[in-house]
Amino acid sequence: MGKPHLPAHLNHIAWNRKILNVFWVVIFVSVCVEVLNSFLTTRPLQDFLMSYIILPTVLLTFTTLIAEWSYRKKNKFMDYIIIMAASLFSAILISVHSEMYVMYTSLFFPMLISTIYFEKKKVWLSFLLSSLVFLVITTFHPISNKMNDLMDQLSMMCILITATAICIGIMSRGYEIAKHLTKAQEDHQDLMVKSTIMEKQVKTDALTGLYNHMAFYEYMDVLLLQAETYHYPVHLAVIDIDNFKKINDTYGHGIGDVVLKRIAATIKENVTNDDFTARYGGEEFVVILNDVNEEKAFAILEKVRTGVENLVHPEIKEERITISLGLQTYRAGMHKQAFFEGADNSLYVAKRQGKNRVIIHECGEALQI
Ligand code: GH3
Ligand code: MG
Ligand code: MG
Repeated sequence: MGKPHLPAHLNHIAWNRKILNVFWVVIFVSVCVEVLNSFLTTRPLQDFLMSYIILPTVLLTFTTLIAEWSYRKKNKFMDYIIIMAASLFSAILISVHSEMYVMYTSLFFPMLISTIYFEKKKVWLSFLLSSLVFLVITTFHPISNKMNDLMDQLSMMCILITATAICIGIMSRGYEIAKHLTKAQEDHQDLMVKSTIMEKQVKTDALTGLYNHMAFYEYMDVLLLQAETYHYPVHLAVIDIDNFKKINDTYGHGIGDVVLKRIAATIKENVTNDDFTARYGGEEFVVILNDVNEEKAFAILEKVRTGVENLVHPEIKEERITISLGLQTYRAGMHKQAFFEGADNSLYVAKRQGKNRVIIHECGEALQI
């Protein structure tokens, strides 16, 4: 696995907005502190206002406005401009308060900001800029160059290098965590796919590809609950292939399977997409017909019956194979066992009356073709 890819929504733009907001907050806070300071200072007020409030505020605002401009233009160098602006911030703060050592800590601003981008080259750039700011100020600034000797400069450079190493370490740790999360996410997706496939396999009959006995009962439970709640008609058909034993005995189980598969496909093709077809077991099938009246349900089953009757089976010469079907309409409050038995009894009647027919029990006297 290579470098983890950060998703688009984790892009820099939103973070740049937050960084720019921090810039504005720093300007505001520095003005507030200097205003307070103006009451305590012994320096002439005009000189203090110019050196500590007006000049730095103008410079900091100008720097932030340049960064704002690149943010609004969605400039491709936006991140670099923000890092440079942070370096300028630190340069301005150190130069203005050259007598305050604590201001040198602002050299860490660009490095910390560049860590947010999670790119090593940006951290190195900020290190170079901070080093440059430090060396230029301590060499050329009239007060700072007196305060810092060579040892101070070397020590500060060591501190900056250490800080850079820590920033890069934080990023490497971040990559490690991102890698781990990516792997965990991939594993989770794999597991979801596998469990979906397995769930389908558990509910599917291997020979015919139809739903199996277990899926049928699961579906029937849900459907009957819905039918009770929303009061729409539901019918159950139990289908059995006529004289199938003879086919097996005459042509063998292999051919029997081919025929069985073909009949299963024909049943599925002739019902609607709203109907549920399953292999109940052996050479018996069930179809649950939803939201159609009895006449329409009967018509669909007739289509199934003639579809199977008209099938040509090259493996068994000229022989035609037929099916018998028993239909039961669901009545409110009916137990699912009674529902199934109703359809099975109709099938039994169909067989007894000569096979290759559809029988509906629920019409008072049995309706048949
Ligand atoms: P009937 O018209 O009364 O239904 O007669 P039948 O011969 O079809 O009798 P029955 O329904 O009891 O027959 C079941 C036969 O179906 C027994 C078995 O040989 C065959 N059978 C059941 N499952 C399979 C299967 O998966 N493959 C094959 N090839 N045959 C099967
Ligand atoms: Mg049979
Ligand atoms: Mg049977």
